[in-house]
Amino acid sequence: MLEWLALARGTLDRAAERRRDQDWVEATWADPRTRVFTIEGGRVLVSYDPGPALVFTPSGKAPEGERYLLGVDDEGVAYFVVRGTLPTIEGAERAGLRRVGALLGDQDSGLLTHAVALEHWHATNPYCPRCGGRTEVTAAGHVRVCPADGSEQFPRVDPAVIMLVRDDQDRVLLARGPSWPADRRSILAGFVEPGESLEQAVAREVREEVGLDIDDIQYLGSQPWPLPQSLMLGFFARARGDQELRPDPEEILDAAWYTRDELRDALESGRIVSPGPLSIAAQLIMRWYGGPLPDMPPF
Ligand SMILES: [Zn+2]
Repeated sequence: MLEWLALARGTLDRAAERRRDQDWVEATWADPRTRVFTIEGGRVLVSYDPGPALVFTPSGKAPEGERYLLGVDDEGVAYFVVRGTLPTIEGAERAGLRRVGALLGDQDSGLLTHAVALEHWHATNPYCPRCGGRTEVTAAGHVRVCPADGSEQFPRVDPAVIMLVRDDQDRVLLARGPSWPADRRSILAGFVEPGESLEQAVAREVREEVGLDIDDIQYLGSQPWPLPQSLMLGFFARARGDQELRPDPEEILDAAWYTRDELRDALESGRIVSPGPLSIAAQLIMRWYGGPLPDMPPF
């Protein structure tokens, strides 16, 4: 399994069983030890001295806005995020998950990943899918309920598979998506369809994107990717025998096999750029490569 995934490092007890206990949530919010940060359009305040960290305030100094309970640490300190206007605090900078998700410590990275996912879900799902009426936040930010019909909506997560395909010579397949910069290369990925297993999705996506039949599918780990609402599930797979690459021009602009030496040369010369450390793609490629990749972008 992959050992380090930037966005899968959360350490808090999410306290899911306390979310509907309104008295407990209110008392916890009012507790002077409670730590709060603000999110606005995916951005939060981060300080860099001594190292990258979220900027917290006590709840009494938090801005107005919806409050979502993110969890409780080993000392019993609770963490909330508020959807509101980012305050101006000296020494703090505005940053989003893409920029700081891999830089923050384990606890803060987990808090930010959770907060970004919740904020996006609330912002994009204000209405009841049954009656079209406006829904209300409940369960400390983890459920929306319809006052007209009582139906509950839970945060959505879309599973996506991402797979490193090797051939019989242990070369890796890297490709360029249609909207990527000319030098960007990564492994293949795609969303799981309704009624499909993860393994079926891996095989289908590889066949659709580059025309290869694969086997030996191995699961290596997952991480949330709330940009905006995916869960990335990482795999290795092996292309059967000697098959010709047939990239689908609508999904893949360039696909090629690389030995480890060829990949190192291509990265060091700048002919291609790898995914950054935030992504599970980079971790899968490093697992195959056997160590850090040369000239990896910062995020
Ligand atoms: Zn409704």
